[in-house]
Amino acid sequence: MLTVFFFLFGAAIGSFLNVVIYRLPEGKSLVWPGSHCPQCGEKIRWFDNIPILSYIILQGKCRDCGNEISIRYLVVESITAVVYLYAYLHYGISLELLTFLVFTSLLIPISFIDFSTMLIPDSLSISGIIIGLLFSMFRGIIVVSCIGAAIGAIYILIIIHIGKAVYKKDVMGYGDIKLAAMIGAFVGWDSFLLTILFSSLFGSLFGLVQIKRGKSSMKSLIPYGPFLAIGGFITFLFGRWIIVRFFLG
Ligand SMILES: [Zn+2]
Repeated sequence: MLTVFFFLFGAAIGSFLNVVIYRLPEGKSLVWPGSHCPQCGEKIRWFDNIPILSYIILQGKCRDCGNEISIRYLVVESITAVVYLYAYLHYGISLELLTFLVFTSLLIPISFIDFSTMLIPDSLSISGIIIGLLFSMFRGIIVVSCIGAAIGAIYILIIIHIGKAVYKKDVMGYGDIKLAAMIGAFVGWDSFLLTILFSSLFGSLFGLVQIKRGKSSMKSLIPYGPFLAIGGFITFLFGRWIIVRFFLG
């Protein structure tokens, strides 16, 4: 029963995250007006606003103007639903579950916004740092978490400085500093070292694939935020286990 609930709950949250992804970078209100088609401006009826299902029933087209609805809506709703479901199975009802759900509900919009605009809104990352530290107080890891936030920020600052020295330009944005600090606050400094490992691994792989496909060169800039987010996501779930299994065993 709860399994189904967490899936549907995740889909509904995903639907809200879509609003955040679409409206936050444009500085629009998140609650008013209600959802409408970006092409024809027509209000979206409640029965066309059901997460995941509506997109499939409408075959990705607006009921009024027939213009295409971005596949992003379906992707974000599905990802969030699956993550919520998995998180419940992984943690059960616990403080860790609540922490993880809040954490991922910040990571998802941050990743999608950074991917399309190359910017990370402070309203998400800075409040994320505060929320992460607050949760850590209750989880009894406040010191580990404060050091994590500091190491996150310092890590990106170092990369920015090295990048400036080598490439004579900003290889990462200042938004990444706050995002890394937020992830550090949630996972703690020890796990954050794994976040660095995973995010640089995935980032380089993605960069290489893009170069291979001729979509970018060694010189082009790719947003690092989504890779930090993926790294943070994996380390929150499996960081402890990986550390104990491979580094302390
Ligand atoms: Zn329309």
